[in-house]
Amino acid sequence: MIKKGFLLLAAFLLSVLFLSACSSGTSSTSSNADGKIQVVTTYSIVYDIVKNVGGDLVEIHSLAPIGSNPHEYDPLPEDVKKTTDADAVFYNGLNLEAGNSWFNKLMETAGKDGEDAPVFLMSRGVDAMHLTTKGKESEEDPHAWLDIRNGIKYAENARDGLIKTDPDNKEIYEKNAEEYIAKLQELHDEAVEQFNEIPENERVLVTSEGAFKYFSEAYGFQAEYIWEINQENQGTPDQITRITDIINEKGITGLFLETSIDARSMEAVSDETNVPIMGKVFTDSLAKPGEDGDTYISMMEWNIKTIKKGLTR
Ligand SMILES: [Zn+2]
Repeated sequence: MIKKGFLLLAAFLLSVLFLSACSSGTSSTSSNADGKIQVVTTYSIVYDIVKNVGGDLVEIHSLAPIGSNPHEYDPLPEDVKKTTDADAVFYNGLNLEAGNSWFNKLMETAGKDGEDAPVFLMSRGVDAMHLTTKGKESEEDPHAWLDIRNGIKYAENARDGLIKTDPDNKEIYEKNAEEYIAKLQELHDEAVEQFNEIPENERVLVTSEGAFKYFSEAYGFQAEYIWEINQENQGTPDQITRITDIINEKGITGLFLETSIDARSMEAVSDETNVPIMGKVFTDSLAKPGEDGDTYISMMEWNIKTIKKGLTR
């Protein structure tokens, strides 16, 4: 009896020692029990691209929730913990996560601000476009992902970051990225083909935020907006008057509303001009899982379809 009790106690102590030895290795990769690489992404679109390249090898915690605006975010205690423990962090850059400096502050708090920190820029290699509002011309416009060719660069950067973090699985990341990039290339070609069916002078896209600069350059559109970037002063009377004049001058027949933006400003513009809102488009967030637009590919397919239909007279 005593001997059995002792054996059980010894087994228990051994298992405690074993478990604590496993969980103390947080600075190396594969820090959790099932051996997955622990990744943090700043918002849903980066989440989805990294997920496609990382597949089953990664477990991802994404910061700004689906449906929200990643320009501004207040990290929760759980976010700080996950970021501290993360093997790799992926962010958009180009000024996206700059509101309140929330991202830089989080990296500092989580000890991920050093030169060698595993923090990877998804927009590396993108030709940055800049804001045009007076006084803001030096600020980069973050919405590069709305040009699918830039989405391909994001996938390449996800691949390179994951390989750097977890070199043992290099070939899997390369294969996943290659397959995913082939799908993105096909989608880009499809977008070009679809939009070419709209006469060029009718390719004017009016949205709340001016998120479509990269998109417009890629697919031959003119982009108009109520305000240029989600920060302060959204939908002021001056902004509404300005866009109303543009809509009347250009004879625009359809407006678009973003899924991650309050509808009221665009509704006011629609009332003022009698031009209808033709549909919702995705810019800064995916849809909830299970809905149309719940992946980067699905959100871009939705945008292509909605814009094509809304601008076809
Ligand atoms: Zn935005």
